[in-house]
Amino acid sequence: EFDQKISPLVDCNQLVAKSLSRAGIDRMFGVVGIPVTSLANRALAIGIRFIAFHNEQSAGYAASAYGYLTGRPGVLLTVSGPGCVHGLAGMSNAAANCWPMVMISGSCDQNDVGRGDFQELDQVEAVKPFSKLSIRVKDVREVPNAVFRVLDRAGSGRPGGCYLDIPADVLHQSVSESEAEELLDAAEKCVSGEVVEEVKSADIAKAVELLRKAERPLIVFGKGAAISKAEGVLKKLVEATGIPFLPTPMGKGLLPDTHELAATAARSLAIGKCDVALVVGARLNWLLHFGEPPKWDKDVKFILVDICKEEIELRKPALGLVGDAKRVLEILSKEIKDDPFCLGKSHPWIEGITKKAKDNVAKMEVQLAKDVVPFNFMTPMRIIRDAILGVGSPAPILVSEGANTMDVGRGVLIQTEPRTRLDAGTWGTMGVGLGYCIAAAVASPDRLVVAVEGDSGFGFSAMEVETLVRYQLPVVVIVFNNGGVYGGDRRNPEEITGPFKDDPAPTSFVPGAAYHLLIEAFGGKGYLVGTPDELKSALAESFSARKPAVINVTIDPYAGAESGRMQHKN
Ligand code: ADP
Repeated sequence: EFDQKISPLVDCNQLVAKSLSRAGIDRMFGVVGIPVTSLANRALAIGIRFIAFHNEQSAGYAASAYGYLTGRPGVLLTVSGPGCVHGLAGMSNAAANCWPMVMISGSCDQNDVGRGDFQELDQVEAVKPFSKLSIRVKDVREVPNAVFRVLDRAGSGRPGGCYLDIPADVLHQSVSESEAEELLDAAEKCVSGEVVEEVKSADIAKAVELLRKAERPLIVFGKGAAISKAEGVLKKLVEATGIPFLPTPMGKGLLPDTHELAATAARSLAIGKCDVALVVGARLNWLLHFGEPPKWDKDVKFILVDICKEEIELRKPALGLVGDAKRVLEILSKEIKDDPFCLGKSHPWIEGITKKAKDNVAKMEVQLAKDVVPFNFMTPMRIIRDAILGVGSPAPILVSEGANTMDVGRGVLIQTEPRTRLDAGTWGTMGVGLGYCIAAAVASPDRLVVAVEGDSGFGFSAMEVETLVRYQLPVVVIVFNNGGVYGGDRRNPEEITGPFKDDPAPTSFVPGAAYHLLIEAFGGKGYLVGTPDELKSALAESFSARKPAVINVTIDPYAGAESGRMQHKN
């Protein structure tokens, strides 16, 4: 009591904001409402930018992508019950992609638990499958320590989501300013990060030997290498050894797609024939065909570099190097430097890959060069590719989702700078587009953000175009509108019977939907395009304006394949 007389009070909302700020957080994403509105205001008041969304799902996707792009946890704020449940989309996406993120949710009053309180839910239990660490604070004094701990855990070791639960009654408590300072000081000292053991030098020597003796070596890298900012050392390693490389979809850009040792356009040959593959920050999951035949040779020796020991134990590679990708590659590069080797352009493996890549690119260019109207996927994708390349450096961040749109885009669009591609990711999550766009614009204000997405992917979170306009973010959303999931109705009417035979196909949307008008409802710019010239002009205008825009591209409803390129999984 005496303390409170000489020191003003800090309420819990302020204390959360102060703790976040002290821990280095300066951006937050979320949806306000009871009981967290004041928390968002307090955060904003001390200099944390709060980006307010329409739906926690999009805000959660934004927080997860923000974590990936910046390497620091993205923070999502939600209300209790349903807000938390919507936010689980973001948490689970962070877990699936190994991206650092923290969800903070208000929850019902601790005294009313079990009585059917407003938006009551055992949220700590609900987030369990997706959370590395969950803390429910029972008293305001626990807040600083809890904030530091969840942030620390989310961002260290294998990144992922963590959860902080703040009951409404705790949000209404206060402490004195002097006590708040003491709590903050103590919290700062309590965190140290997950301990990652140093890679053994004997293993580094083994890795170098394997690479040196390999006849057809390959370097594969993914999101883990991107988050560790390993691009500099990767470039050194690739160029010193002359080993070709293959990025995973989001690894694209760590080294430019245009690099002469890029094996992207010769992917099947590279993975089918390599004898030693150094895989850096990428899991041997479905995206890499589990590292198994028939896509990979049965005798290929994998050297896995991953910060997560369990990941390496799961895959049982010839050799595992546990540690941060950048750090491990630096040690590896140093070891190679002492006794260098380089394959050289005339090495049969390099010649083979280069030739195959050139042939494949030439074949695709023939398809791309055609101006097909009504648009297929290739013609507009070529025009978009050229417009993005025309922006130069800093390169735009590309956001890509949809089945056919993402599949075609992955092959056609060119990445030249690290961490400039965000797509459906490990989980193949559709609906991430608008959240990712907002995260990208907030994380990199100097870059243009360009989303290339299917109409179905766009539809998941289309209302967030209002968020784009409200914050005036430099985001151009290009919607490939083919009137449905995979395309328009392609059923054979004779095969459909029963009382609902006249219903629209589950895959179809209203044909010719005017998505460009959605953004105009909020004062943004919309374009409807159906020819190469119209598209070129819309891109030129919107890219130079750097204002929120939606370009609605009319695509032939029969141009896409069902399930995109993954028909075998459907
Ligand atoms: P991709 O989809 O690009 O193939 P994945 O998400 O499958 O990539 O794999 C990323 C891997 O990177 C995960 O296994 C994760 O543990 C690992 N990882 C995350 N951060 C780092 C880091 N700093 N250094 C090394 N590996 C990392």
